[in-house]
Formats: sequence, structure tokens, C-alpha cells
Amino acid sequence: MEHSSLPRVFIVGGGFAGLAAAKALAHAPVQVTIVDRRNYHVFQPLLYQVATAALSPADISAPIRSVVRGQKNCQVVLGEVTGIDITSKTVAFADGHVSYDYLILATGATHAYFGHDEWAPIAPGLKGIEDAIELRRRILLAFENAEYENSDEIRRAALTFGIVGGGPTGVELAGAIKEIAGRILPPA
Ligand SMILES: Cc1cc2nc3c(=O)[nH]c(=O)nc-3n(C[C@H](O)[C@H](O)[C@H](O)COP(=O)(O)OP(=O)(O)OC[C@H]3O[C@@H](n4cnc5c(N)ncnc54)[C@H](O)[C@@H]3O)c2cc1C
Repeated sequence: MEHSSLPRVFIVGGGFAGLAAAKALAHAPVQVTIVDRRNYHVFQPLLYQVATAALSPADISAPIRSVVRGQKNCQVVLGEVTGIDITSKTVAFADGHVSYDYLILATGATHAYFGHDEWAPIAPGLKGIEDAIELRRRILLAFENAEYENSDEIRRAALTFGIVGGGPTGVELAGAIKEIAGRILPPA
């Protein structure tokens, strides 16, 4: 429901932060718009399970519209923000711009290669569904390639996984790869 006379709150990003902001404004006299370049929210803590084929992408994502369904002062727009002009209070898209009264930027973070972007192709990050699917492809193919490899050295290389980052996700990923190798792939 659109109330054109109410202040327009524009939230960029439908992640945890953007959704929390929208919900906090559920009963405020404002008109809330969430814009995201994806029309779905991703539960990032379980990305590692998609990357190791334990869950499918749909298990850890939900349409942003369904998350805020029932919140009468909130609408969801699919689009990629390309710029912001705080003087004119407008948000730019590739094909136009939208005015706001209040702006909340909740665009998340991305991983860093510490000035070595050339590492990206060999060491992909794990921030979104696309990353998880690509990691899954690489991990499962490594096992498949090792299966038909005659050289011990090449097989060992194929089955050696390097994980940069020993926080919860790195440790969970390591454990899940071990599960694949020791429990899921070996014949019964
Ligand atoms: C693999 C992994 C595991 C994690 N595990 C845990 C955990 O166990 N516990 C915990 O507390 N935290 C965990 N975190 C951290 C937690 O998930 C993040 O802190 C949280 O998701 C950040 O929320 P956010 O809303 O700031 O950003 P995000 O969830 O990244 O959302 C940002 C949104 O903005 C959108 N966006 C970005 N740029 C634009 C643009 N230009 N135009 C339109 N839309 C845009 C994106 O599409 C995205 O939907 C984990 C993170 C990762 C990556």
C-alpha cells in the first residue's frame, strides 16, 4: 500500500541488516522501499552447506517479498543501485533514478584479496549462492577427476583443498569436505 504523502525510506539491500531495518519501521508512519539486485534473501551462515552439496540453494534463500509479506508500509524492488546523490536525495539505477527522504545503505561486505585481485579466479570467495554453486562444482569435480587419475601425485593434488580463513565458515567447510571424502563418496 503506497502512501505518497508519507516520508519515503529507501533501503538498499535485503540482507540481515536491510530486513531488520524494514521490520523496525513496520509501524512507523513512513513508506519503506527495499531495493536489492537479487529478489531473494540469502542466509549466509549456511552457504558452506550449499558449497558442499549438503543443502540446495533454495534451502537457504527466500524471496525478499515473502519475508516482508504482511508489512503494509513496505514494498520490494529488484534493481542494482549504481550511485547516490545526497544533495538531490536520489538513488541511481542504470535506467533512471528514484527520490528518497531517508536512505539506509545495507549493502553488506565482500571479501578482500589484499591488493591481489589476480587470486580471485583460483580462490573464489563465499558470499552468495553463485559462489557456493561454483565452489560445489569445483569440489565435486576434484573428487571425480581424482577417481580416474592414475598418477598418485596428481590425485593427491586434486584431493588437497586449501581454505584461507580459519573462522567458523573455514572450519565448517573443512569438516564438510572431510565428510564428503570419508562418508559420502566411498562405496558402501
Ligand atoms: C559464509 C558466511 C558465513 C557466515 N556465518 C555467520 C554466522 O554463523 N553467524 C553470524 O552471526 N554471521 C555469519 N556471517 C555473517 C553474516 O551473514 C553477515 O554479517 C550478514 O549477512 C551481513 O548482513 P548485511 O545485511 O549487512 O549484508 P548482506 O547479507 O550481504 O546483504 C547485502 C544485500 O545488499 C545487496 N546489494 C549489495 N549491493 C547492492 C547494490 N549496489 N544494489 C542493490 N543491492 C545491493 C546484496 O544483493 C545483498 O542482498 C556469515 C557470513 C558468511 C559470508
